[in-house]
Amino acid sequence: MTREYVCADCGAALPVTLGRWACDECGGPLDLRRAGLEWRHGLAGTRGWPGSCPALPCEEWALDRAWLGEVPTPLVEMPSGSAVWLKCDHLMPTGSFKDRGAVVLAALALELGASRIISDSSGNAAAAIAAHAARVRIPCEVFVPQRTSSRKVRQAQGYGAEVHLVPGGRAEAAAAAQWASRAEGVLYASHAANPHFHHGVKAWAYEVREQLGAAPDTVVVPVGSGSLLLGIAIGFRELLDSGSIAAMPRLVAVQSAGCAPLAGWPPAGTPPGPGAHPVAEGIAVPQPIRLRQLRQAVDRSSGTVVVVDDQQILHAHRDLARSGLCVEPTSAVAWAGWQALAAGDLPPGRSVIALTGSGLKTDPPESQIPQMPGKGLL
Ligand SMILES: [Zn+2]
Repeated sequence: MTREYVCADCGAALPVTLGRWACDECGGPLDLRRAGLEWRHGLAGTRGWPGSCPALPCEEWALDRAWLGEVPTPLVEMPSGSAVWLKCDHLMPTGSFKDRGAVVLAALALELGASRIISDSSGNAAAAIAAHAARVRIPCEVFVPQRTSSRKVRQAQGYGAEVHLVPGGRAEAAAAAQWASRAEGVLYASHAANPHFHHGVKAWAYEVREQLGAAPDTVVVPVGSGSLLLGIAIGFRELLDSGSIAAMPRLVAVQSAGCAPLAGWPPAGTPPGPGAHPVAEGIAVPQPIRLRQLRQAVDRSSGTVVVVDDQQILHAHRDLARSGLCVEPTSAVAWAGWQALAAGDLPPGRSVIALTGSGLKTDPPESQIPQMPGKGLL
């Protein structure tokens, strides 16, 4: 595999090695680029995922060993004929879109000969990394914020991972994971830091292109660390560069009012208060390390940022459940964002909304939420 890291901040080119998760020169986040050769056709053909994505950045033998049954997830049109589709990644093997990146990171661990995999997460990535580490028989540790949903912690433990509860938020969990990753033979399998993750997630875009026969006009995504948004942006950019689509879809990043750094809230350097972000815990990332890249991805697609409050999220969660879709509240953020967008001045057109995580890991919506007039599903 001929690939290299390139620093998103200073442009330094660096080899792909165990133990490297940031730029040696400036500490900036790393991107991935092919160096001379095409990406391998990982998992294409018999296994079906991602049959339409010829661009995974790992060797086929390694991807094959790491594969846990990932297949293209369904697009459910809501309702039929509406030109609004829900991309059902909550149906992935461990119940979230994080499996798209985790299978590639586990393959990378095999290629590089890692003896241990370490990650940090608010929950879904922990489960995805733990499951794929178990699949490739490499011991795994995950560092999660202490207030993480206990079901997600138990899920990761069930896959055999050693789970460390870290006091504080996402930043403290990441710092603890990075410190532990200094040991020899460790792959720091971070969905935020390691760009291999984004190149797994990009299969989302290839699948949508295949399923619709064209790019949608609008893609709506909940954004925390932003690995889904960045992966989707990479995928559609590759499709555009190859002539497979005529134009980039508009990328709409949706964040919750309690934690919306893309909209400048909270101000840089402000620690999150206790009890903040009670609903959308999966995207409560006050200072994403790729914030500048997230803004670029939105701007370059002529997209926008939508901020929704907890009441909108709770109602969207309930609306989705009443339509038979068992997703976690963080997934409902995207649906709430699409509703806000549709009520605005800019027609969203043919839209795909990312459902990111299963509702089986979280509590169902409470039945006592009052109905908002005119806010039903479509
Ligand atoms: Zn750099």
